[in-house]
Amino acid sequence: MALRLPVYLDYAATTPLDRRVAEIMGRFLTIDGEFGNPASHNHAWGWAARAAVETARSQVAALINADPKAIVWTSGATESINLALKGAAAANKGRHIVTAKTEHRATLDVCNHLERSGYAITYLDPEPDGLLNPERLAAALRDDTVLVSLMHVNNEIGVIQDVAAIGRLTREQGVLLHVDGAQSLGKCPLDVQATSIDLLSLSAHKIHGPKGVGALYVRRWPKLRLAAQMHGGGQEHGLRAGTLATHQIVGMGEACRIATQEMADDNARIGRLRDRLWDGLRDLGNIRLHGAAAPRAAGILNVSFADITGESLLAALPDLAVSTGSACSSANQEPSHVLRALGCPEPLARSALRFSLGRFTQSEEIDWTIGAVRHAVNRLRSLSPLWDLRQQGLEPDTLQWETA
Ligand SMILES: *Cc1c(COP(=O)(O)O)cnc(C)c1O
Repeated sequence: MALRLPVYLDYAATTPLDRRVAEIMGRFLTIDGEFGNPASHNHAWGWAARAAVETARSQVAALINADPKAIVWTSGATESINLALKGAAAANKGRHIVTAKTEHRATLDVCNHLERSGYAITYLDPEPDGLLNPERLAAALRDDTVLVSLMHVNNEIGVIQDVAAIGRLTREQGVLLHVDGAQSLGKCPLDVQATSIDLLSLSAHKIHGPKGVGALYVRRWPKLRLAAQMHGGGQEHGLRAGTLATHQIVGMGEACRIATQEMADDNARIGRLRDRLWDGLRDLGNIRLHGAAAPRAAGILNVSFADITGESLLAALPDLAVSTGSACSSANQEPSHVLRALGCPEPLARSALRFSLGRFTQSEEIDWTIGAVRHAVNRLRSLSPLWDLRQQGLEPDTLQWETA
């Protein structure tokens, strides 16, 4: 395939629709298609829309080995996380919640909100490799802990938490477990029956589905108490009111169907491309691969380059779409809260770039990226007084760089 610029390596921020997804969504919009309201019970338009919504529900459920009845449609993972955390906190006894410093803003902001409403929140520190130590988690649980909320795959560094081990612990202690699965759905095996996950937040647009739709898995048995956060027409068993967005839902279903069939092949290919990218960069020297010691999802590579900032590197690479932290935090100039939580010194956190690859990434794009990044890093370092000192053996002692 011919190389086309710019190159998109920001799949962790969002992904393009799979064409098969766009095609099926188009059938649920116009007068020629099934535009009905799935809640219209007395005519064929409503029945057809309802049937499509239920097929999609089964497709999402199949990807996580859930009962389709356990799937609640939402507008995305952010809404699912809000419903899970606020809803579980409001409907159950206990005023204490445990989460981690490396969570997505969607979780951290909800926890901040709950803290202002009188809940106590414990923010766990990860180990330097990005993994949570189950013993630390166990030690953080209290008699009044209602919920533990953790992500499965980290959106900045790709580290995969052992949710099965964490679930054994929370189940044993009688504490609810909510997992943010936005980055793991369709990328890692995720089985709600084999793990003790009580609530699982999902998003379509990270797996080649549309933006603006997601789901919350809510454990069915034993019944879990959850307070609705959106009131209205009583849809989704009263848990999430509002007319169902048939075309969005059908798109998420199709994206999950494709992922169920193609995940293994996609991940093998994406993993090889990610390794090729790292092999092409590592001998630049004085660079660090974040989360290198932990199991990681195939598509994410987060690298710091000594003595230059991620911002200057981005500016030097106008034809490369990557990010310096997560898409949500690039609006502010703070260094990544995830890398800081791993114990990275600030200069190291500021020099990070996240490359994220996906279904449509081509090897030509990876080879171009290697060349472009090497060129930019070498040029910026040649202008950097810090790099100059390092070359003279006068490494500033605040910077504990590892050589790859
Ligand atoms: C993208 C993302 C979210 C937010 O999902 P939306 O569907 O965009 O609201 C939450 N958590 C993680 C880990 C994500 O990557």
